[in-house]
Amino acid sequence: MTAKKITRMGNPLLKQMALPVLNDEFQSLELKNLIDDLYDTMKEEGGIGIAAPQIGISKQIALIEIPENNERYGNLPPHELLIIINPSIEFTTAETQTFYEGCLSVPGLRGQVTRKKSLRLTYQDPTGSPHVLEASDFFATVIQHEVDHLFGILYVERMSNLKTLSFNEEFEQYHSKK
Ligand code: ZN
Repeated sequence: MTAKKITRMGNPLLKQMALPVLNDEFQSLELKNLIDDLYDTMKEEGGIGIAAPQIGISKQIALIEIPENNERYGNLPPHELLIIINPSIEFTTAETQTFYEGCLSVPGLRGQVTRKKSLRLTYQDPTGSPHVLEASDFFATVIQHEVDHLFGILYVERMSNLKTLSFNEEFEQYHSKK
């Protein structure tokens, strides 16, 4: 399949609740092609996550894959490809954590977001089978970022301190822990 153009902040699709994937859409060729396009676009752009509204499709589908030795995010614990469909999140702690986040739809920028430290994710896979996943630490932040896309929320809307918003170059120069 092919890498698609990324929708950027300001596009109304990124502000809307995405439509759920319906029962008769699971295991369809259309769904498979859409997931392939999302994967190819994520790889082309060098992202660790992507959501369908980011390629202009209002569907509750998000992908996360954290490769080993990923340059953009430093030495994060890798995670194999996770395909999240029709998700819901339940937080399993009141404890919070703060990470710098970036987003393909807000290119060139980074900013700190404080989110819950652990969660329980309920979702369906591409066959429609239901799953429950417990996640914590940075991986929990990535899940919240991607699921937010499906609910029409960008990370900049979650920032509690806009002073931490930074261009990538300045982030590397002044804030990177290298
Ligand atoms: Zn994003």
